[in-house]
Amino acid sequence: MTDLLNDTLDLSVSIVGAGTMGRGIAEAAAVAGLSVSVVEISPTARTSAQESLRKSIAKAIQRKKIQAETPDEILVRIQWVDSLGAVAGSGFVIEAVPEQEDLKREVLCELDRLCPSTTILATNTSSISITRLAAATRRPDMVVGMHFFNPVPVMAPVEVVRGLQTSDATVDKTIAFAKLMGKQPLIVRDQPGFVVNRVLLPLINEAIFVLQEGTADAATIDELIKLGCNHPMGPLQLADFVGLDVCLSILRVLHAELGDPKFRPCPLLVQLVDAGRLGRKTRWGFYKY
Ligand code: NAD
Repeated sequence: MTDLLNDTLDLSVSIVGAGTMGRGIAEAAAVAGLSVSVVEISPTARTSAQESLRKSIAKAIQRKKIQAETPDEILVRIQWVDSLGAVAGSGFVIEAVPEQEDLKREVLCELDRLCPSTTILATNTSSISITRLAAATRRPDMVVGMHFFNPVPVMAPVEVVRGLQTSDATVDKTIAFAKLMGKQPLIVRDQPGFVVNRVLLPLINEAIFVLQEGTADAATIDELIKLGCNHPMGPLQLADFVGLDVCLSILRVLHAELGDPKFRPCPLLVQLVDAGRLGRKTRWGFYKY
């Protein structure tokens, strides 16, 4: 493992997409001492990512979670670019573009064309099949799922998802890389929703059905699950945090791919998404923010 870690240390890391997840992954990698290139096509998202990274790192320094004098000591390790061509030399690329299969396939296909044959292509997808995404490239053995959790700088686990054709060497390097970032990698097979979302989304969906049926209001449901199940956050609060659109899209994948009616999205969830009430990011979901 030491050799693998040393090898991984030599790798330059690139992240594609600097939204909620990409910026968090960039922060964790830079804090761990790695050189990071971030590709973001939207100038607005790029500015917002740069500002939020500076704030987040400053807060971590203030709380003594990071050993640095100023955010710039960490930020200097992050290079911002606007096209995939600029990351062609990277040994490890993590794709974190929106959860749309066509877009992800297009990005991975382009990375496959641009990067040397030794580059590992990881995807942070929450629900799309790694096996199918890998098939968009000529290196399916070097494509792997790396499912981080939000907020990345504070959440330890990473589901390392092994597609049908992912090689042992790719899995081993991905695990070494995740550890280098201070994360706790856990290997899972490529099944819809992997482990966490497969278990979590039915809980969230059921809480929404309970709300829809009028059994209790949102605050009561959350308080009961928090206290009764010893969860740090209620399921409706958590849904607002994850994003109701994200919850709906994962449930749709679980429903379509597993064919079990227990995964059918609650109509109230569909309505809230239709209304544009997506949770914290739109300042209104089950709660107002
Ligand atoms: P997001 O919409 O916040 O960010 C995606 C970013 O990618 C945007 O800034 C967008 O401008 C950029 N982008 C789009 N096309 C691009 C391209 N061709 N090249 C470079 N940048 C491009 O999305 P997110 O919430 O960060 O999710 C990203 C991925 O992570 C998704 O697959 C999602 O399912 C997964 N994920 C999300 C969460 C979560 O809680 N949000 C948790 C785990 C995994």
